[in-house]
Amino acid sequence: MTVRAYVALGSNLGDPLATVQAAFSALRTLPDTVLVAASSLYRSAPVGLRNQPDFINAVAALDTRLAAEALLEELFAIEARFGRRRDFHHAPRTLDLDLLLYGGETRATPRLTLPHPRMHERAFVLLPLLDLAPDIAIPGHGPARALAEACREQKLAKLAIMDSVPDHRRVHS
Ligand code: ADP
Ligand code: MG
Repeated sequence: MTVRAYVALGSNLGDPLATVQAAFSALRTLPDTVLVAASSLYRSAPVGLRNQPDFINAVAALDTRLAAEALLEELFAIEARFGRRRDFHHAPRTLDLDLLLYGGETRATPRLTLPHPRMHERAFVLLPLLDLAPDIAIPGHGPARALAEACREQKLAKLAIMDSVPDHRRVHS
């Protein structure tokens, strides 16, 4: 069975732009998984701990035959390859990969919570997700479009030069 999954990419150490692009390439090499689409890249101010560099954020759509746990393991392995150190919560990181959605699945374990427990309140997740799936709903929270409107005061810049969405009119809409 193939499941549509969405993964959030974030980086704010070293060369975040290059890291996120390399992370998309790494997602292409996952077993039993196809990278279906990559969102535009966004620049966001850090949440929680303020005194650190801006983040580059994006979202990937995957079609995968991996179980959710196995997919998460693969994401952790990619993070490790990019030299991620888990110093403390909200610490600057070379690469953070979060499993946002795995089909319509919901679960709440410490290791894996689906949907991702904070995705519904983060513009830097919702806007790139909407690039790929404009009509998607987050189980338990409703349409992503409405959730994104609720957090529109969060500062976020779409990086036009890296734009991977063919319809450039969206940038100004
Ligand atoms: P954050 O992404 O919130 O800054 P981390 O990347 O350090 O924090 O993840 C902390 C823990 O969150 C990990 O040990 C992981 O097992 C757990 N976790 C729970 N649900 C998810 C999910 N949907 N995607 C990624 N990690 C998750
Ligand atoms: Mg994470």
